[in-house]
Amino acid sequence: MKHRLKRMLRRLVALVFHHLGLRGAFRRARGGVPVVMFHNVGHAEETAYLPGHMKTSTERLRRLLQLLQRARYRFLTVGQMLTALKAGEVPHDAVVLTFDDGYRDNFEVLLPLLKEFDATATIFVQTGPMKGKLNWLHHYFWVLHQRGPHALGAMLAEHVSRQHTKADLLALPAGDVAGEYELKRLLKYDVLPEERDEILRRIFDEAGGDERKLAEEVYLSPDDCRALDAAGIELGAHTVNHLVLSSLDENQQRREIEGSLRDLQSWLGHEVPTFAYPYGRLWDYDEHTLQILEDLGFESAITAMPGVNDAETPRFELKRFAMNDDSNMGEVMCDVDGVYTWLERRGLRLTV
Ligand SMILES: [Zn+2]
Repeated sequence: MKHRLKRMLRRLVALVFHHLGLRGAFRRARGGVPVVMFHNVGHAEETAYLPGHMKTSTERLRRLLQLLQRARYRFLTVGQMLTALKAGEVPHDAVVLTFDDGYRDNFEVLLPLLKEFDATATIFVQTGPMKGKLNWLHHYFWVLHQRGPHALGAMLAEHVSRQHTKADLLALPAGDVAGEYELKRLLKYDVLPEERDEILRRIFDEAGGDERKLAEEVYLSPDDCRALDAAGIELGAHTVNHLVLSSLDENQQRREIEGSLRDLQSWLGHEVPTFAYPYGRLWDYDEHTLQILEDLGFESAITAMPGVNDAETPRFELKRFAMNDDSNMGEVMCDVDGVYTWLERRGLRLTV
């Protein structure tokens, strides 16, 4: 189905089922536990350079928590959900909130909000920035925020070695949104990783970026992680440097995954049984990743593929719906209540 048409139908379904108060009827038929994925919470000045699709305002998250509370949902962590699924239960009143990357606003803004609603959550942390080391994506976002996609694409094109990539970088689609989408895709999958990392770091340094300061201002510290853990929030691993795992060889993948596991274990002093794939789409990990997770003793891993989770869902390929400032609240609630899942079983696929 064409993306625009799908978007329109999704909105229409939300208008009917959310605003007329009918969506709750689907919950028992949903047959799985919904998980929602977020990144930043609130609009801290320090994270102004990060893109809007990673942010959810405090007001919107509070509104969602109110709706969930009113609908008598109870909040589980990923680990608690897995325990229920393993015991053969699919709690129809359960929802899981997850927050990726380990941003400091998760401690400063999210934690008080969760306490207000007596809710819990799972936070997946990448541990490199907590030791002062940022990944290419931050260099990229930081420079992108200053220069825009087309100017940055041209700067990158000057330095990449592959001719066809150079041409693609100079021919980004017009408009900031489309241009940025294509530029990021090229950087993730087309530009040679070592080249990408080196060029972006140079551009970041030349533009006056301060890596250590940024890492400190934007990410949780090990102390924050301990405080979240003590408050009943589950912390899961999310690699050290947030790379596309399927683009790495087996040893590099192991270092990335095991590194974040050991960091977290040493900070928290206990096991860390859950993991989230950086980027989280099916093509962002491979069979080596699954084997490494199993070898390291993880009990579950979560993707960014939409859907609910039942006893049949592979425990290393759990699913979740995404929410950010652009999401429509009615659509998020229809995702959570299983309206779209119900329609999908009847042949109308409206999950995104
Ligand atoms: Zn992530």
